[in-house]
Amino acid sequence: MKAAVLRGAKDIRTETVPDPVCAPHGVIVKVNSCGVCGSDLHWYKEDGHEGTIFGHEFSGDIVEVGKNVQGIAVGTRCTAVGFSPCGQCFWCKQGKAHRCSAMALLGYQFPGAMAEYVHVPFAALGRSVFPLPEELTYEDAASVEPLSISYFSVNRGQPKTSDIVAVIGLGVIGLYAVQILKALGVEKVLAAGRRPSRLAAAKRCGADPVIDAAAEDTLQAVMQATDQLGVNTVVECAGNQATFDQAVAMARGGGKILLVGIYEEALHWQPLSVISKNLTLVGCLGGNFPAVIELLKSGKASSRGIISHRFPLSQAAEAFRTQLQDPTAVKVMVQP
Ligand SMILES: [Zn+2]
Ligand SMILES: [Zn+2]
Repeated sequence: MKAAVLRGAKDIRTETVPDPVCAPHGVIVKVNSCGVCGSDLHWYKEDGHEGTIFGHEFSGDIVEVGKNVQGIAVGTRCTAVGFSPCGQCFWCKQGKAHRCSAMALLGYQFPGAMAEYVHVPFAALGRSVFPLPEELTYEDAASVEPLSISYFSVNRGQPKTSDIVAVIGLGVIGLYAVQILKALGVEKVLAAGRRPSRLAAAKRCGADPVIDAAAEDTLQAVMQATDQLGVNTVVECAGNQATFDQAVAMARGGGKILLVGIYEEALHWQPLSVISKNLTLVGCLGGNFPAVIELLKSGKASSRGIISHRFPLSQAAEAFRTQLQDPTAVKVMVQP
């Protein structure tokens, strides 16, 4: 089959690789759509991950089912979460495989869905493999994974409809966080980001005001929009020193900061304002596929207005370049 293989820093090539072999507990999916993820870009930019086939945000049709898999039929349209717990560690032995300390992930430790076919090694109906309701397009379905991260993160903050929430960093996770907050009925959602295409997308998702962090001071703009009180909750999706500092400064007394963005570098920070304002810092990493599939089905969340570019598998290199560099890119899809 054809697959997009990482051959060095910023060097993706579409090559012929062996077809995947179906394990007894696995399924094989013929991929329809696969999103380029911001997390992929961290590895894409570096040397040292040669041979990686990215792709963990995908949808397609089941073409083969392992002999120990129950309730999943060939021909099912689906999306899936790809992870392979070790089965040996403290968490696995407690039945909490999602906390496995040696988790292997689809698209990183084993081959992902930037390919014609992908192997999901542990296929359990409703736990790792999710059939698609008719209402969902393949593109919606390939957006379930990032949406589910936003859903999980936002719900860690348990926002009330009367809360004022700021989303900092308008990558796809931030944009979907805006959608989820609006879907939960939060009336006032502020958003701050840099690329014009993403500011426009945030507006479409219902954020108001949308702050152009490249042109104005985010903190000042947020304080101005909140009568100098600050916000109840900050969803910090950018993951750098400046945005962390802004988050601490713009959270009002008793507020929460949801840490969602991936920090590439360590922080220097003075915990005093967290202490004096009784702030809560919340780490967020998790998902909820069933809840998000329902939201997509109801139309309260959508990948329309988020997906900006589509490339065939033969142009996977261009897809990654676009996601990393093109100022008009929001979410880039590869369609094998
Ligand atoms: Zn992702
Ligand atoms: Zn484990």
